[in-house]
Amino acid sequence: MLIYNSQTHRKEEFVPLEEGKVRMYVCGPTVYDQIHIGNARTFVSFDVIRRYLSYKGYQVTFAQNLTDVDDKIINRANEEGRSAFEVADEYSAAFIEQMHRFNVLDPDIRPRATREIDAMQEMIASLIEQGNAYVAHNGDVYFSVRSDHDYGTLSGRDLDQLRAGERVEVNDEKRDPFDFALWKAAKPGEPSWPSPWGDGRPGWHTECCAMIHRYLGTPIDIHGGGQDLVFPHHENETAQASCAWHAPLAKFWMHTGMLRVDGEKMSKSLGNFHTLREVLDRYPADAVRLLMLQTHYRSSLDFRFDLLDGSVGNVARLASCVRNLRWASKNAPQDGVFNEADRALSTAAKEAQAEFTRQMDDDFNTSGALAAVFGLVNAANKYLASVGGDLATAACLRAADTIQELMEVLGIDLAASAAADELPAELVGLAREHAGYGGADAQEAAEALLKARAVARADKNWPVADAIRDGIAALGLVVEDTAAGVRLHPAERG
Ligand code: AMP
Ligand code: ZN
Repeated sequence: MLIYNSQTHRKEEFVPLEEGKVRMYVCGPTVYDQIHIGNARTFVSFDVIRRYLSYKGYQVTFAQNLTDVDDKIINRANEEGRSAFEVADEYSAAFIEQMHRFNVLDPDIRPRATREIDAMQEMIASLIEQGNAYVAHNGDVYFSVRSDHDYGTLSGRDLDQLRAGERVEVNDEKRDPFDFALWKAAKPGEPSWPSPWGDGRPGWHTECCAMIHRYLGTPIDIHGGGQDLVFPHHENETAQASCAWHAPLAKFWMHTGMLRVDGEKMSKSLGNFHTLREVLDRYPADAVRLLMLQTHYRSSLDFRFDLLDGSVGNVARLASCVRNLRWASKNAPQDGVFNEADRALSTAAKEAQAEFTRQMDDDFNTSGALAAVFGLVNAANKYLASVGGDLATAACLRAADTIQELMEVLGIDLAASAAADELPAELVGLAREHAGYGGADAQEAAEALLKARAVARADKNWPVADAIRDGIAALGLVVEDTAAGVRLHPAERG
């Protein structure tokens, strides 16, 4: 399996540090507001990467932090006249809620900066002791970038060129403009913790590094985030780790491309954002996810709402194919022969699975993987249209299971939409009245009703035929003539 390593700028064969196990970390959000769909794109990309690694048989341990102390949180708290902890709690819960709606799996470990102060202080103390950090006059503690000869290698930046080319924050306390705060001395009205260097709070770049060391051990296999985190955040993280523990922080650095609007990165500061909550209120999570996965995770993705309309249709195509295959499998004669068409469909399922794996093994090429699944959908639809009543249970089930299983690896649960298709129990009463049905199963009742309706129509017994039709419609169901026969399903489904 090949993974693109942003540190080496090439795809490398993925071999985990410990056989069969993968330890990965993805920087989490700063919890001062609802996240936007740009942030969500990064989290969904790593959710799929994690799911695929598990599918491949690795035992994955996934950690993601919540940055719950930060200038943005403090500013919001001050504006709203409440405590920073209250703001952070509210948006931590909001983040987790929206991730659940988006079917992003919970991390195995979700450390919060405010609860890991001791781990960060240990690391800072060690950096001071080893001459990589210093205490400024005001009680801030800074990392000295000049003390790390490798500083800049992750992002490919040369400190001297940076000095000439980039604007840096002017701060009299720093020895070098690129030195960054490990510890920020307390200011009135801000949350703070006691420390050997005076009361204060941790700097942002410090938390991930200390948490990785505490919960996963360094180095880890994969460290991820959006491309905008490469510099300075990840450069600073890796500098701290290599100076504190004399080992790299991660073997593979993975970065997602930016989600853009009209060619510009979606961001809070530009005001060109849509929150994930707002988008999920308007569109099903599966459709949003499918749209995101149609672009490779390292490419930028230009977002438009009208693209989501297309995705809704694509999810419906997947779901209806699985539904039709399952339904067809139930109606296949148990002792049916396995003919040429059935063999072809089984082979198509096997090939789709192999192609899916080939694509995902090539740096998680989700768009190629989706093309493999849609290829199988086309083959299955052709099969259903051509075989008429000559169905083979095994071939139908194999194709349905494959589509469902592969989409599950991408975090799209087609079983959920199939379940939404379950028939209402009221059909039993309707079938008792009009079709002399004596059982208690909604599916059987539907079949009895459809048969009774066909008989009534053949006999030109319009009152009975119409009563059945109206009774079915009153339950919100429609009668659909599929290639594999007549069936009922909820009216809103396509
Ligand atoms: P933040 O809370 O700003 O640290 O962002 C959380 C995550 O979202 C980070 O991994 C960022 O790199 C990522 N991110 C921010 N903006 C975008 C965007 N427009 N597209 C994709 N990822 C983004
Ligand atoms: Zn981080």
